[in-house]
Amino acid sequence: MVAPAGHRLGLAGQGHRRWQVDVLALVGLAGLAVVRDVSHPDVAYDAHKCILCQRCVQVAEGAGDGPPGLSLAGRGASARVCAPFDLPLSAAIGSATALRCAQVCPTSALRAKSSAERRSADG
Ligand code: SF4
Repeated sequence: MVAPAGHRLGLAGQGHRRWQVDVLALVGLAGLAVVRDVSHPDVAYDAHKCILCQRCVQVAEGAGDGPPGLSLAGRGASARVCAPFDLPLSAAIGSATALRCAQVCPTSALRAKSSAERRSADG
């Protein structure tokens, strides 16, 4: 269920005011706000599609081309692929490695950007 920004979701209408939940606070605590990373010029990441198979992490680890690579962060529903220390993907992997990672991703959670996406990022 999605509540408008600033609204509370709960059972107040049913007389259970003590169970009111601040949805935005929960989303922030769970790290669910960071579900997409389009910072990289060549690839985009969508955590909703990620099955945490770590194929991309292994490819980036094997590349050894300078940037810090990829790792998993968070737990449970908030787990996601990111650069170490929660840096954006653009700081984690070079272009060649990023495209190799996208090639091994079975769900397209990490995918190559279209040429239109690349052009709009340039302009
Ligand atoms: S290869 Fe794809 S599905 Fe697997 S961990 Fe990486 S982004 Fe997620």
